[in-house]
Amino acid sequence: MAILNIVKEGDEALRKVCRPVTEITPRIKQILDDMLETLIDSGGVGLAAPQVGILRRIVIVDDGEKYIELINPEITEREGEQEEMEGCLSVPDVWGITHRPMRVKGRALNRDGEEFTFEGEGLTARCFCHELDHLDGKLFVDEALHILTPEEVEERMG
Ligand code: ZN
Repeated sequence: MAILNIVKEGDEALRKVCRPVTEITPRIKQILDDMLETLIDSGGVGLAAPQVGILRRIVIVDDGEKYIELINPEITEREGEQEEMEGCLSVPDVWGITHRPMRVKGRALNRDGEEFTFEGEGLTARCFCHELDHLDGKLFVDEALHILTPEEVEERMG
């Protein structure tokens, strides 16, 4: 396993539409292993492959209990709404308020190529939406309702 370099806003990898994974090769499993190590090292709650310069539809999300590896993920149901604070490992030191569904459900493939369903609420729902946006070249700052000032960040983080 290896810790990969996380690219930052301005890198064109973050603006590409990523290609689906058509076959789960040893290389794909290696990418998952390296992304997991990179995510744990970063202290973030989610990581998408383009953030490490790999233009494939692969995401890892920490739902608070476990790390979920998602290959070719799709959100199939959105319910409710929330406006909460969001940040991104590729946009360091910037926090914004985003409009997201409160709950999402979706489907993806696991590392054995088996389809499974995932769901999340609150922070985890935001994380699924945020990471899947990365696969289409979108960053949270594109559609944030408001970018927080340093004073507002301090207030919210207590
Ligand atoms: Zn991000």
